[in-house]
Amino acid sequence: MVPDPSLTIDATLGVVRRQLAAAGIDSAAVDARLLVREAIGASPTDLILCGGEPLGDAAAGRLAELLPQRLAREPMARILGRQEFFGLSFLLSPATLVPRPDTETLVETCLDLVRGGMLAGVGPSGEGLSFADIGTGSGAILVALLHALPGAHGVGIDLSTQALATAEANAAANGVDARCSFVATSYLEGIGGPFDFIVSNPPYIEAGVIDALEPEVAQHEPKLALDGGADGLDAYRAICKAAPSRLKPGGFLAVEIGFDQAETVSQLFDQAGFRDIALHRDLAGRARVVCGRL
Ligand code: GLN
Repeated sequence: MVPDPSLTIDATLGVVRRQLAAAGIDSAAVDARLLVREAIGASPTDLILCGGEPLGDAAAGRLAELLPQRLAREPMARILGRQEFFGLSFLLSPATLVPRPDTETLVETCLDLVRGGMLAGVGPSGEGLSFADIGTGSGAILVALLHALPGAHGVGIDLSTQALATAEANAAANGVDARCSFVATSYLEGIGGPFDFIVSNPPYIEAGVIDALEPEVAQHEPKLALDGGADGLDAYRAICKAAPSRLKPGGFLAVEIGFDQAETVSQLFDQAGFRDIALHRDLAGRARVVCGRL
């Protein structure tokens, strides 16, 4: 449909919502509000206050660009080009996964361990602490940790230079760029350390099931950030092999896992010599993080 500029904003919301729902999109009502809001450049309150006004030519033109993207199952965050994570705003690019709320569990785990005094000689603001984030993508984990630990330094690692450019922009936009550096490499190749901790949300989906995921993920997210090989565990094997020689004694490794990978990833940690291996659960009570220390 070509949005009608003479329709009121309220009526346009209804039209957009019905089109999205007809395309099988469960979040049609929320997405309609986000799309119309973006098209008219309004805040959430503006959208309520100006509901009786006509959409207008400029907003109708913008909506005509945005709506087909969502109908093609592009994730909302990709259409808007940004996503909130841990209370901060992150720019996205085609090379970066959209930061998920699930991954906040991983950030919280690292913060709990640091603030709980797990690292000898490191205080709650992470003074003097250094860590590495493998597969940093948009930099969401790296930047959120640096923001919460004003004394810490971090290295963001990714195979994709395009992702690293996005991560660098996010570090600058969130005011932590003076405390991080970026390296394009595979896992920890060429990275020395030693670090107080290493964190990663690696690709962990079994290669064979990626195409069966929801279209927002299967068709629009970077495969490099999802594909964990035949059994989904390739990245954990590589990380468990490379991490021990880059950690300080007493340092820890924390990784996000898929909801059914707790047992196998814990075993990999055990075989790699990690101790005090623990699982951390998301708000739904599912184990989504494995961590262990040297
Ligand atoms: N949790 C992501 C998804 O739903 C996968 C992220 C990953 O492989 N690291 O698709």
